[in-house]
This record gives sequence, structure tokens and C-alpha cells, in this order.
Amino acid sequence: MRPLVAHIDLDALRHNYQLAQRCAPQSRSVAVIKADAYGHGALACARALESCVPAFAVASLDEALVLRRGGIDVPIVLLEGIFSVDELALVDTHRLWMAVHSRWQLEALLAFTPEAPIPVWLKVDSGMHRLGFAPAEIDAVWHALSAAPQVGELHLMSHFATADATASAHYHQQWDCVHELACRLDAPLCLANSPATLAHPETHGAFNRPGVMLYGSDPLEQANAASRELKPVMTLRSEVIALRDIGPGEPVGYGGRFCASEPARIAVVAAGYGDGYDRHAADGTPVLVNGQRAALAGKVSMDMLTVDVTGIDDVHIGSEVVLWGRAQNGAVLSIDEVARHCDTISYTLLTGVLPRVPRRYHGARALSDETLR
Ligand SMILES: *Cc1c(COP(=O)(O)O)cnc(C)c1O
Repeated sequence: MRPLVAHIDLDALRHNYQLAQRCAPQSRSVAVIKADAYGHGALACARALESCVPAFAVASLDEALVLRRGGIDVPIVLLEGIFSVDELALVDTHRLWMAVHSRWQLEALLAFTPEAPIPVWLKVDSGMHRLGFAPAEIDAVWHALSAAPQVGELHLMSHFATADATASAHYHQQWDCVHELACRLDAPLCLANSPATLAHPETHGAFNRPGVMLYGSDPLEQANAASRELKPVMTLRSEVIALRDIGPGEPVGYGGRFCASEPARIAVVAAGYGDGYDRHAADGTPVLVNGQRAALAGKVSMDMLTVDVTGIDDVHIGSEVVLWGRAQNGAVLSIDEVARHCDTISYTLLTGVLPRVPRRYHGARALSDETLR
């Protein structure tokens, strides 16, 4: 078997969720598990968290149905609401909560007769200019929804564009906009994503929506005391499959991008862009070999990548290689650091791990692959 595996530590997931709760003790933290739980496996993550969350959040009805079919019974909120009118019947049948961000969604909901009132998160565009009603429309929509028999509990929702930044005028404009609306309407709020959960207690509402922090990535431009407690959930682990010594001036890999300046020992690792490891990774991207930091050397191929292991102890065929996460000796390679070397963010690396890579679950509530089907 090819040695590349994505190991998922469900105890770390629960630790990070509990950290989100400790950051916001007056709020209820909805665990965001869209995009297959950011690549970690939505059903496995949902089962590990279902005893402690008030609700899960996903991007679409399809993602919610995967959870319901897997036996997840807690509330699930659709962060973008419905994509077509016929989805309302399934929202009702499966007892889902929904965001309402557009006029057509509002009209569809008000023309529908559910079995039970549907909890709604009314989305205001406080300045990100992606989804939501304009602030000037909110009073009327809020009152229409409040009076509608179709609607259960109603919350005001918005999303921050720059809550990760240390100082951001844009953030303060968004916060002022929502704060004013919430005071005027006496509306319970759901605002905080991961960076706001960690660093902006003023935004903590009735509900928060932490996502990437649950998986152990630090979303803050500058780490704080809370974010330093995050633990990596995914460890992408492989092995050395070949070794060679090269002389000064000798190139490695496609295009000969890396060229040894001194005699070097090159390890070939079973992991490539065909597994989701980013092809934009620059020479020097950190990799843990035997739990020691080594540097990517040469362009990433589809099934392999190459690492300069000169000076690393006892490297042989079969030596442990960690692309991100925790090595067997306890050393941690942060996915955020790897992402910076790839000119991207942890979100794309995590959601980019392809189906070819088997996921193996560890921790108190780990379930076999069989039960996850
Ligand atoms: C994805 C998403 C979140 C979670 O964001 P993170 O940055 O991963 O914490 C919260 N709210 C909405 C509307 C989202 O789409």
C-alpha cells in the first residue's frame, strides 16, 4: 500500500471546539463542517462533536442530507439557505435551519407552508458585499419574518471580511453596522467566525460560527493566547520511498528548479499534487522527516515530492515524513506555515486533500471506515 494517509485526531477536534466555547462562554458555538468538514470527513467529525454542539453549519442541503443519512440528529443550518424553491420541502422534512439572504428566498419562504416553523438566520450585508440584504432593507424584512407563521426562532446574521487582521477599519465599519441594527431590532446575533471567536469578544452573539479553528489552523494574522492553544487535527503523513546523493550543480525534478549548491541527500516522498499537496510549494517549504525539519527541494510532481534531507539523522526508506500536523516524536508542523510557503491559506490545503488519500480516524470517538459509509 502507498504510505500516504491523512490521520484525523478527533480528540484534537473536540479540544479545539471546547476552546471555541471557552472563548465565548455566553454564546453557543455552531460547528461549521461544510466542504466535508474542511476535508476532514463531515460524518466522522459530526459524530465526534454531536454530543456537545447546539447545531452544525453546512453550505448546502446536499451537505446536510449526508449528515442526516448518517444518523446525525442535531439541528443543521444552511449557511446559504436554499438554492431553489423546491428545497424548502426538504428543509422542513429534515428539520433544518436556514439563512435567508435574498429577496427570492424570503418570498419563497413566505409562500410555503411547513409542518413546523423553520428557524431562520436573516443575513445582512454589513459591508463584505457578498450575500445579504442591504442594511436599509433589514427592518422591513425582519418585521415580515417575525410576523410570519412559517418562521421559528429568528436571528440576525452577518459575516466579516477582515476579522483576522490585527487592525482593520473595514472590520469596525461592519461591526458598527450590525451592532446598530441589533440594538434597534433587539435581534439575537450570529456573527463570529473563527477569527472573531478568538479575537473579537464584542461580536460574540447568541450563536457563533467557528470553522477553520476547529481543525487547528490559526486564522489570526497575529496569534493570541487562545489561538496558541489550538491543536492540529489532520496529520498528512507519508514515507521516504527512495534516496540519492547528488553533487553540487545537480538539479532535482521537473524543470530543474532546485539545484544543489553543495553535496546533498535527496529523499523522494510518496505525496504529490495528485493527492492535493500544493504544486505552488516553493523550495524551502518545511517538511518533517523523522520529526526533524527539512526543506522541499524541487517542484512537486503528481505522485511524489523531493526533500533535502542533508544532515537529518538516520533517514532510510520507510522513514516517517509529515507534510503538516504532528510527527511521531511530537514535533508539530503548522499547516499555516506550509500554506505561506505555497502562497495560499490553510483552507485550500485542507479542502484540497483528494479522495485518493485515505483518512484514518483516531481518538475517543473514532469509527471505522465501514461505519462511516
Ligand atoms: C465558512 C463560514 C464560516 C466559518 O469561517 P471560518 O473562517 O472557517 O471560521 C462562518 N460563517 C459563514 C457564513 C461561512 O461561510
